[in-house]
Amino acid sequence: MQYPDYRYQVNYIRRLKRWHVHVIGQSLCGRNLVALRRGSGRPRVLIAAGFHGTEYLTVLAALRFARECTCGGSVAIVPCVNPDGTEIAINGFQTAGAYAARAALICDDHRRWQANARGVDINHNFPACWEQVKQRELDMGISSPSCTRFGGYRPESEPETRAITGLCREADFDRVLALHSQGREIYWDFEDCAPERGRELAARMAQVSGYDLAQPELIATGGGFKDWFLQKYRRPGFTVEMGKGKNPLPLSDFEAEYPRVRAILDTFIRAESTDLMNGE
Ligand SMILES: [Zn+2]
Repeated sequence: MQYPDYRYQVNYIRRLKRWHVHVIGQSLCGRNLVALRRGSGRPRVLIAAGFHGTEYLTVLAALRFARECTCGGSVAIVPCVNPDGTEIAINGFQTAGAYAARAALICDDHRRWQANARGVDINHNFPACWEQVKQRELDMGISSPSCTRFGGYRPESEPETRAITGLCREADFDRVLALHSQGREIYWDFEDCAPERGRELAARMAQVSGYDLAQPELIATGGGFKDWFLQKYRRPGFTVEMGKGKNPLPLSDFEAEYPRVRAILDTFIRAESTDLMNGE
């Protein structure tokens, strides 16, 4: 098993059959942000992974699923939303080009890096109750770029964030799923925005995987991709926390954990369009 750094991702995607490769943006360091797309019609679904540097097992899972899935409907997969952060976590600060020196200054261990190249946490940068997220960060003493949990100076300030919101605005997805790690949990609500069919699908995904259904937090955190999608579209949006342990999870965890994630993604993609799309 190899680390899914940028070179690995590019080579893997080159060998995938049956997918159209769309470049939906560029990271701060100029790496391509890629969406794999196939199929047509409804439901139209998105799976996105690799938001956080240390969570590269999710990149492996998204790529493997792209190779294996035989799905109907219309599917988009973004295997790595944050390729610069993933590269830093795997291969070190020197991979961050013009941002390398600053990154090394604000973090003493590249293996703990979660943010993008300039220290913005992509999953705090989506425009969903962003002021609340910002206040929470300040309460935690985070007011400037950091290896984790700094949401930027304004929502949607980062090219990686805008690539995803832009894709959603263009594609009109019926539901989305964000892969993170870790915890073996499925989050499905934000500010009471989830429709009933979202809760039902989350319960089915929990059942097939053994993952826990996370209870909605009393004080919504916000700033995350699924938060934004739920609030903006009132359609199902999920965060799945892959694996159990301490990030970064070791590569050796992948083969044992992947079948659970695969079961979740199969269920997510295949859910009957009829029972999941009424009530729009
Ligand atoms: Zn994460």
